[in-house]
Amino acid sequence: MKDAQLTSMNSDQVTIYREPGPPIDKERPLESMMKRFDVAAEILGLERGVYQYLKTPVRQHIVSIPIQMDDGRIEVFEGYRVIHNDVMGPSKGGIRYAPDVSLDEVKALAAWMTWKCAVVGIPFGGAKGGVRCDPSKLTQVEIEKITRRYTANLMDVFGPERDVPAPDMNTNEQTMAWVMDTYSMHTRRTENAVVTGKPLIIGGSLGRKEATGRGVMVNTLSALGKLGLSPKDASVAVQGFGNVGSISARLLQEQGCRIVGISDISGGFFNENGIDVSGAMTYVEKHRSLHGWKGGDKVSQTELLECECDVLVPAAKEDQINPAVAKKIHAKVIVEGANGPTTAKADPVLQSKGILVVPDILANSGGVTVSYFEWVQDRMGYFWELESINDRLDRMMRSAFDAVYQAAAKHHVSMRIGAYVLAIDKVAKTLKVRGIYA
Ligand code: NAD
Repeated sequence: MKDAQLTSMNSDQVTIYREPGPPIDKERPLESMMKRFDVAAEILGLERGVYQYLKTPVRQHIVSIPIQMDDGRIEVFEGYRVIHNDVMGPSKGGIRYAPDVSLDEVKALAAWMTWKCAVVGIPFGGAKGGVRCDPSKLTQVEIEKITRRYTANLMDVFGPERDVPAPDMNTNEQTMAWVMDTYSMHTRRTENAVVTGKPLIIGGSLGRKEATGRGVMVNTLSALGKLGLSPKDASVAVQGFGNVGSISARLLQEQGCRIVGISDISGGFFNENGIDVSGAMTYVEKHRSLHGWKGGDKVSQTELLECECDVLVPAAKEDQINPAVAKKIHAKVIVEGANGPTTAKADPVLQSKGILVVPDILANSGGVTVSYFEWVQDRMGYFWELESINDRLDRMMRSAFDAVYQAAAKHHVSMRIGAYVLAIDKVAKTLKVRGIYA
């Protein structure tokens, strides 16, 4: 348990996960977000008070989650929920389970959600949650207990009009079903609009599971269009083969792209002739990872990021593209499926190489967009057809891409800074109209 630093408390029956310090070569996600925020704030000439308001989370919750494990031991996990900003509406953001989740990371992810919702133009603020645990070492029963206790601890925070969670790394439809059920038990009524990304049968939306990958696909097509490249001539490498990575790869392949590289936590694979994405997805469903898959030559994580391809889709986690990796990237376009996959220090390197980066807060906003559709459908009690969901999503993605592209051109900055400028400007203007309650 090196990463999680499992520490005994007063007996060997009760243990708690403690936050390890950030690795030396890892950029703190919050710092990474703030560096871009500061550049955009400068361009906008944001007044000091508004700057302070927008950079500060409105609420931060740390909860303790004691669980009786299957073998009878009690373990205490630590959970977080950060509401970064609720000026635009109820806060929205996923919950992730991972051994290295920290309050700092959750704060950054919550802020990214504020900017993401603003970029795409949906009436939500930003939030994020996490539980410091290693799901690969937990049983389903233990994960369910963690989820229910985490939700019960945050009963006063969550709510359809207050704060609406969704899945993120290592959480899924089933996790959301447990959140919804626990919340509903406490409120004594079925409240399906309290979470999005739920199973269809309890008020989920058609298209939600594929939405982030679909948004990545639509953004990739827009970016290729700007470079005058046809999808049929484009090769793509995807890092991370979970919800976002695998679905992005599948949908891009359906558009005619050649998927030459894929990877997950167990390693990477390269196949110049094109990877059988559906075959790899079936393999992962059965074996839980790509470990042992035979559909390509084995490559390291770094080799995957630096491989010969036109488009690189980092869809795993933060800080994957640092300046050293950025220098060796061959792709012409990077479409950030993951949140924060590029460190702030790597931005200028990519820019100097003329690589078009579609930033995370735009590229992966398809998920929260269909989450918004799900929340609307739950509140209406009326459910839409897949075709109309995908049509609306595609339109919103294309128009957000164009707006960011234009903002970048107007200010002579990267699309990343263009996206921040657009988002911060919207939230700041809304804040000004609402005024400061005192
Ligand atoms: P997931 O848990 O379904 O998949 C994560 C994948 O990344 C897995 O294949 C895992 O093996 C792989 N991975 C983890 N560490 C890796 C590493 N160091 N190198 C290579 N691969 C690694 O998670 P997801 O929902 O697909 O989320 C992936 C990213 O996308 C996260 O940054 C998340 O915040 C972001 N995101 C997800 C959604 C969504 O709707 N699920 C929406 C927006 C953004």
